Amino acid sequence: MAETPYPTTWWTRLDDGRIRCDVCPRACALHEGQTGLCFVRMRAGDQIMLTTYGRSSGFCVDPIEKKPLNHFLPGTSVLSFGTAGCNLACRFCQNWDMSKSREMDTLADAASPEQIAEAASRLGCRSVAFTYNDPVIFMEYAMDAADACRERGLKAVAVTAGYMNAGPRAEFYRHMDAANVDLKAFTDDFYHRICAGRLEPVLDTLEYLKHETAVWLEITNLMIPGLNDAPEETDAMTGWIVEHLGPDVPVHFTAFHPDWKLRDRPPTPAVTLTHAREIALANGIRYAYTGNVHDVVGQSTCCCRCGGVLIERDWYELGAWRLDERGRCGACGEACAGVFDGMPGRWGARRLPVRLRG
Ligand code: SF4
Repeated sequence: MAETPYPTTWWTRLDDGRIRCDVCPRACALHEGQTGLCFVRMRAGDQIMLTTYGRSSGFCVDPIEKKPLNHFLPGTSVLSFGTAGCNLACRFCQNWDMSKSREMDTLADAASPEQIAEAASRLGCRSVAFTYNDPVIFMEYAMDAADACRERGLKAVAVTAGYMNAGPRAEFYRHMDAANVDLKAFTDDFYHRICAGRLEPVLDTLEYLKHETAVWLEITNLMIPGLNDAPEETDAMTGWIVEHLGPDVPVHFTAFHPDWKLRDRPPTPAVTLTHAREIALANGIRYAYTGNVHDVVGQSTCCCRCGGVLIERDWYELGAWRLDERGRCGACGEACAGVFDGMPGRWGARRLPVRLRG
């Protein structure tokens, strides 16, 4: 299948003749014909082009809780898709077949932004999620798809590592309604050694999203035994979140499964996640969750005032629902932080692969 280069704007011509991509902190400086570390932004025709515009690695209808977002239209379905490539190089990547692909034939489905929005609407989804690989690198495609969704009353969700420069970040998030940002660890050493990145730009993105946008924000921390699961690190991370973002940003501690280049680590024990959740709650985080394990208590939403269960979850299946129509606790009236729309959706735990016809 032929590539579909799409002109981009976030780049700078350097004195030495190279062109620097300004989308993310990697600042790839490219000669004609070269691609950046993400493989999908390429210097061609004396500018930087996106080579994956209009091409997807596949579509699937998921529960919104799977992104994970627990406080954004709970129980509704989301049309998920991604492209190829990534601007980080995480050794534990769980989607490496797409994120590390240099093969454009990974991108099986051609889909215009309008086709994506139309499919999401037809399938009864409330939102579209840019996921599987990081939408930072295909921001032009994601923004156009988000706009097409908004025209149909659908929301747009970014699942991202937050590794992005300030200018393109501001443009990108004007088009988004919710984000789950993967805070991979709380040490620069981890970002450097395991992801070939840096921590500081990610913290900048979190503060930007919380304080300068209306985007609904949740955070995921994938806990890898021996690498980023020390209680002291979780304590420092959640302390920083409360101090810099406030207590209302939900945090998901999720289990690692050996993958990609990181196969010498065991899966995360459930007790590690439970302990991390306890540390977060003790530090003042109001909504802390465990993920990728079966844990009804750790995955249900409780009222931050009276402690009663507001939304019960069994994996991605919702049980008891005790929020009123305005998202307040049915027992004590305290508001639950999030985006709620009356009664919960009824999608359940299903995962439905979808093929879009061009
Ligand atoms: S988006 Fe891609 S090409 Fe641009 S700086 Fe980041 S890794 Fe390099």
